[in-house]
Formats: sequence, structure tokens, C-alpha cells
Amino acid sequence: MFLASLFGTDNKPTFLELVSQEQLLLGLRPALERVLGRLGGEVPGRNWLRTLHQHTDEVWLFLLILLESRSLHSNGATVAEQFYGLRREPKRSDQTPRGQEMVFSRRIPFNSTLVWAGVLEAAVLPYLRVKLDAIYRDLYIRRQTNSRNAVGAFWKRHFLRLYPSLRSLDYFFTFIFRIMYLFQRSEYYSWPLRLQRTIIVRDYTAAGFRSRLSSGNCLQRSIDYVFRVGRFSLIFGLYLLRFIDWFRMNAERERREQFRSQSLPPPPAPLIPPHARNLLPGGCAVCHKRECVEPSVCLVSGYVFCDECLRGYIRVHHCCPLTRMAASEEDVRRLYLSEGQ
Ligand SMILES: [Zn+2]
Repeated sequence: MFLASLFGTDNKPTFLELVSQEQLLLGLRPALERVLGRLGGEVPGRNWLRTLHQHTDEVWLFLLILLESRSLHSNGATVAEQFYGLRREPKRSDQTPRGQEMVFSRRIPFNSTLVWAGVLEAAVLPYLRVKLDAIYRDLYIRRQTNSRNAVGAFWKRHFLRLYPSLRSLDYFFTFIFRIMYLFQRSEYYSWPLRLQRTIIVRDYTAAGFRSRLSSGNCLQRSIDYVFRVGRFSLIFGLYLLRFIDWFRMNAERERREQFRSQSLPPPPAPLIPPHARNLLPGGCAVCHKRECVEPSVCLVSGYVFCDECLRGYIRVHHCCPLTRMAASEEDVRRLYLSEGQ
């Protein structure tokens, strides 16, 4: 049973097909945002482009409504479903349970109620989820940071209280329907489809259906053509975008590796405060000898002193004698030069 839903039956699409068709258009929204951002930033004096960029979600919603309503109207499938060779079918009461043996000769017309229900599900619902999530996050943060009075309005308080439950119900039913579909306990892939009483099936009649559509008048045909070209470029653009992303990631990685292989320049010496500058004889800055006796380095600053001078100074002042950077006796290392000092 489980395997059957993984591999699918004759007309029932597999679980993986449904999951991937769901993901198909998701990659386009960031692309739209990037394009709008680029246009808004590069074309000076085009404030409306910047406004569009600020409302990428709404632009995306508008495009989706346009595309999906058209696609559902003419093909009985969303753009992504059609790409995977699937279509929607209203569930018939005389149908055999589990949808295994459906009659394909009789096609129930996809009426406008179903089209708009599909648009609601495929375009408006995801938009609402994103928007309401953002509003909730905003209100929640404002409540956490400000006093309770900041979120004063009646509806806001109730929204804060109710929204998490609503959202978890959404998640819960989505999860339940997926699991039930996977184990063939339900023919509906998601709860919105259950509400529409619509199932998704493999589209064997796609070719014939489309040719029937094209036999309309000239205007109808050209609209159909424009949308078909639009759909093709959409999907082509999606793959192009993935490729560009992959290419850029590779270039970035190469650049980083090149950078890593270059040797780093030595860091500059720590600054010495003005009052200590006259203490710099090139030897020990504590006892002013020309050469350090048993030279030792203060690790926090890198300056060299006599071992005894440095340890004595740090024990009293807890800092480097020259730079005054905090240091302890653990930061002292004896230096052994190759000349045998
Ligand atoms: Zn010294």
C-alpha cells in the first residue's frame, strides 16, 4: 500500500509527484524579488519600481492569480500540476472508492466555482499564510519589547491569542492529509482539496483537450498562445535561475578558496601610548638595557623584554609594560634565538 502511493497507480499521481509540483513555483518568488530589487535600484527616478519591490508579495500574488486562474480555466490544473502532467477532477459520487478505476470517457466540466476555489488555494492561501505570519511575528515582538499597552487594540490581542492555534490546525491537517494520502487512506492530497472535493489525477487527455481549446476564435487562440508562451518561459526561467545560482555559488567558492590560499599579511604592531614612546631604546623598555637579558615576549602585545623585568612588571601592574594591554604571567614566553643566547 505504501509502495503503491510512492510509485503511483495508473491514474493516481505519486506522493513525490505531488510534493514536487508543490515546490515548482516556490523558487520563482525570490527570483521576482531579486529582479524587482535590481530594477528599482538601478533605474533612477523610477519610484514605482521601488514601490513594486516593497510589495513583492502582492506582485507575486497578482501574477499567480492571473496564471492559475487561466491555467485552471483552460486546463483544469494549476501551472505546476500541468507541468507534471496532472489535472484536477471533481470527485463524483458514483466513483469507485479510493479512485482506482475511474471512468475517463466522461469528463466533468471544470466550472468557475472550482476555478476560483483553486485560485484561492494555490495563490491566495499561501499569500495569507506569509502575510499573517509576518503580522503575528511583528505584533509578538512588539508585545515582548514594549509594555502590554502597546498592543492595545481589541482585534490585535485576539489575533495574538488565536492565530497560533489556527496555524497549528493548518499544519496539523496538512500533515494528516499527507500521511493519509501516502498510506492511501485518503484521495485528497491536502485539506483545501478536500473542501473543494477535488482530486488530482494523471492527465491522459491533455493533448486532445488543448487542441479542442485552440479551435476557438482568433482572440481566444492568441490569448491561449500568449499564456502558453508565458508558462513556458516561466518554467524555462526557473531552471535558468537555478543554473545561475549554482554557477554563482561555484564562482564564489572558487574565489574564497583562492583567497584562503594567499598568505595573510602580518598584523601591524600594537599601538604604544605616547607617554611610553620615549621608553623605546630597542632593548628592554623596563630596565633600559641595550639588550634584553634572557629575552621574553609578552604574548598579548608581542613586545620583548628581559624575562625578569617582564614578569616583575606583570606581577605588579597586570599589563604589558609598553602597550598597557592586560596580561598575566601566563602570557610570558621565553625566547630562544638561534644564535644561542
Ligand atoms: Zn630589562
